[in-house]
Amino acid sequence: MTVRAGVVVTGTEVLTGRVTDRNGPWLAEQLRALGADVGRIVVVGDRPDDLEAALRHLMADHDLVVTSGGLGPTADDLTARVVGDVQGRPSELHEETYAVVRAVVDELMRRRGWTADPAAVDAGTRKQATVPVGAHVLPPVGTAPGLVVTPADGRDGPPVVVLPGPPSELRGMWPDAVAAPAVRAVLAGAPALLEDTVRLWGTLEADLAQSLRRVEDRLDGLEVSTCLRGGELEVVTRYAPDAADRLEVLRGALLTDFPRTVFSTDGSTVDDVVGDALVARGWTVAAAESCTGGLLGGRLTARSGSSAYVLGSVAAYANTAKTALLGVPAALVAEHGAVSPQVADAMADGARTAFGADVGIGVTGVAGPGGGTPERPVGTVHVAVAGPSGRRARTLHLPGGREQVRAITVTAALHEVRLLLAGDVTG
Ligand code: ATP
Ligand code: MG
Repeated sequence: MTVRAGVVVTGTEVLTGRVTDRNGPWLAEQLRALGADVGRIVVVGDRPDDLEAALRHLMADHDLVVTSGGLGPTADDLTARVVGDVQGRPSELHEETYAVVRAVVDELMRRRGWTADPAAVDAGTRKQATVPVGAHVLPPVGTAPGLVVTPADGRDGPPVVVLPGPPSELRGMWPDAVAAPAVRAVLAGAPALLEDTVRLWGTLEADLAQSLRRVEDRLDGLEVSTCLRGGELEVVTRYAPDAADRLEVLRGALLTDFPRTVFSTDGSTVDDVVGDALVARGWTVAAAESCTGGLLGGRLTARSGSSAYVLGSVAAYANTAKTALLGVPAALVAEHGAVSPQVADAMADGARTAFGADVGIGVTGVAGPGGGTPERPVGTVHVAVAGPSGRRARTLHLPGGREQVRAITVTAALHEVRLLLAGDVTG
């Protein structure tokens, strides 16, 4: 039996994009791991009518609905009341919850040394402790209690789990939400849905689609989604455990058709592959960046444990900096231009020497939107890597705006390092 769950993310700040939704996808992933299939995440602003419409829409054909946000002490926090109304449970002050929230708020004010009008604080506390009659209350992680609200007697419909908006509070409350009897009852017997990820670098979407078409009649029970992300192709498959044999058909097809471009079959990222390979070899890496201005250094050091293999990065944006900090000959820049394979090579060598690293990376390009010429249009990027076992160099012609060109350049540089470490060297 498939258990279907829907998610309503509330908040005008999320609707308008001022805050990026971190709760919807996280909840979808948690629910999937528990066997519930999430088909829809609906985002609504802080308007009771829109929230009510979204709830009714999802409740009509889902076994469980989860909401995020709108549990705070202010007037725009209205989720508890609206959910109660939809389930036929009017809200009223819950004395036990009032005492709990009161204690949390008092302690918070004491610790932070805040003072506030006691009447205002009490009004906020009462608001947060006013919950639908008969709701299952989840203890607050911040100040807001969560709720599991089932339909009132005589009504039909799924339970609604009401969680706070701040992601750390929502995540902290999730185990209690899942343990609530009404939620357990829905999830009982749901088969766990598994997820598999294969990543490729350098394969075209059209070629991938053709490969998938070749085996599609043997992929029954798999939900395959492909997406192009940061220049990489990602094939994510959701499947029930009893479809594991068909997953092997899919993975087999990908590995057979794209043996040189599949770089991850276990969920690892290129950052992981590069980091692990450097550690395995006992090698260090350093970068010299022009058009990425430090983004590569940021990405290399984003991984915890990277101090074991990253020595550093020089953001040598100006030609004078390339010469002074990396020893790139001024004559080389004058002869070939700052955006040239020769300068990328010299930057890779310069990074190796300046840091005493085993592997050096050099990146130079035209990120745009200005600065392009007919010979070197916007999106022209040269990446070079140099290591003890040889070198690699690559010229890219990247689409998109400045941000995208810089982001894909960083990913491309990591792939060049990955290929170098795999022994795929060109010189
Ligand atoms: P509060 O007591 O903080 O008001 P709340 O449960 O009412 O809690 P919201 O008012 O909806 O939650 O959101 C509070 C803050 O939490 C938002 O301003 C935002 O910074 C963060 N937040 C809320 N929803 C999300 C979301 N879906 N993704 C990321 N952050 C979110
Ligand atoms: Mg709020």
